[in-house]
Amino acid sequence: MKDSEQIKNLVERDKKHLWHPLTQHKTASSPLAIIKAKGALLWDEDGNEYIDGIASWYTAMYGHSNAYITNALTAQMQELDFVMFSGFTHKPAIELSERLIAILPDNQEKIFFNDNGSTAVEAAIKMALQYYHNKSDRRDTLIAFEAGFHGDTFGAMSASGLSSYNGPFEEFLLKVERLPVPQEDNIDVILEQLEMIATTNSCAAFVFEPLVQGAAGMKFHSAKGLNTLIKRCQELDILCIADEIMTGFGKTGKNFASDYLENKPDIMCLSKALTAGMFPLSITSCTQTIFDAFLSDEVAKGFFHAHTFSAHPLGCAAAISGIELLASEEILERRAYIQKEHEKFVAQVSNHHKVKNARSLGVILALDLDTKMDRYGKLRDELYQFFMSRGVNLRPLGNTVYVLPPYVIANEQLDKIYTTILELLET
Ligand SMILES: *Cc1c(COP(=O)(O)O)cnc(C)c1O
Repeated sequence: MKDSEQIKNLVERDKKHLWHPLTQHKTASSPLAIIKAKGALLWDEDGNEYIDGIASWYTAMYGHSNAYITNALTAQMQELDFVMFSGFTHKPAIELSERLIAILPDNQEKIFFNDNGSTAVEAAIKMALQYYHNKSDRRDTLIAFEAGFHGDTFGAMSASGLSSYNGPFEEFLLKVERLPVPQEDNIDVILEQLEMIATTNSCAAFVFEPLVQGAAGMKFHSAKGLNTLIKRCQELDILCIADEIMTGFGKTGKNFASDYLENKPDIMCLSKALTAGMFPLSITSCTQTIFDAFLSDEVAKGFFHAHTFSAHPLGCAAAISGIELLASEEILERRAYIQKEHEKFVAQVSNHHKVKNARSLGVILALDLDTKMDRYGKLRDELYQFFMSRGVNLRPLGNTVYVLPPYVIANEQLDKIYTTILELLET
C-alpha cells in the first residue's frame, strides 16, 4: 500500500480490530481519525482543522507537539530510554522529584511514581490503608464526594461517585461513605454527616477532587468548605487525598487547587498535564509522616506496589520541561489572558435564558444549558456534532458545555470557541 492509501481509510481500518473506551459500539458514530496536532489545533484525515478546546482531556496544556518538550524527549531517548525503577534510579526521576517538591504544598515530601491517573489514585488508597495497617490499626472505609471521579481501576472506581457505569462491578467495590460537596450554605450539615460516618466506621481516608469535579461536569465547590472538611478529617486522624489529576498544573489559576486551601492534603495525585499530554505517567506524593510509617525492619511493611513503567525517563523528561514552561513568562501571560477572557464571557452569557450557572476558575470555563439530558445521550451527541462541524472540539458532559483550552491557544482561536458557543445559544 502506498502511504496516501494507508492514511486515507483509517476509519474503515479502525472498525476491523479496535475497541474504543467509553463507547457503545452498536450505536456510536464513527470515530474521527486525527493525523496531526500542533499547538491548539488538530487535523483529521480529510484535512479538516479543529481547535482543541479541551486540550485533549486537559493534558496538552502547553500545546500539541510543543518543540520545547519534544526536543527534551528526543534528547532523553537518545541518552537513556528506559530502565526499571526498582533497584535503579535515574536523573530524570530525581530532577523531577526536586522540581515538584519545590512547587507542591510545603507538607509534600515524597514522590511515588505510577503510569496513569487511575493508578495514582489506586496507589494513594493503598498507601492510606497500609499506613494504618502498619500501625496495627485496621481501617476499611473511605470517604468521598458524591459525583466525584477518580478513575476506572477498582479502588479509584470505588471512590468515584459517578456510578452509572459501575453497575456490573458494584458488589466488588471497596467500602465508601459519601458526602455532598460543600457550598456556601451546607457546611454544618456536611460536618454532622462526617461526624456520623467517622463514629460508625473506621475511616482510612477522605478522597476528593479539590474545588472542581471535572467528569461530573466541571462542578465547582467552596474552598472554605473543603478546607473545613480537611481540617476536621485530619483532627479525626483520617488521611486526606487530593486528586489533582485534572486540576493540577495551573488550571484553576494557581499551580494546584490545593494552593487555595489552608489545610493541605496528606496525599496528592497528579497526572494528565503533568507530562504536558506527551506521555502516560503519574505521581502519588505524600508527607514525610506517611512515608515514615512504612519504615521497618519487617520487609512487608514497605509499600509493595509497582508498575513496570514507573518513573519512565521519557515521561519524567516531558514533565520537567512542562514544569519549566508552566512558570515561564509566556505561559503566565497566556494563563492570565485566558482567565480574564473567560470572566468576560461568563459575564456576557450569565443572563442568557438558555444558560444556567455560567462559571469560570482559572482557565476552566463551564456553563449548564437549561435543559435536561443524559450524560452520554442523544442531545449531548448533537452538541458535540454542532461544535465539531464548526471546527471546535468541545465535548459537553451532559448539559454542561465546558472549555479548558491549551494555555498557548491564540486569541482568535479562543474567540472562535466563544463565538461558536454563542451561536449554539442562538439556535
Ligand atoms: C482523568 C482523571 C482520572 C483518571 O486518570 P486516567 O489516566 O484516565 O486513569 C482520575 N481523576 C481525575 C480527577 C481525572 O480527571
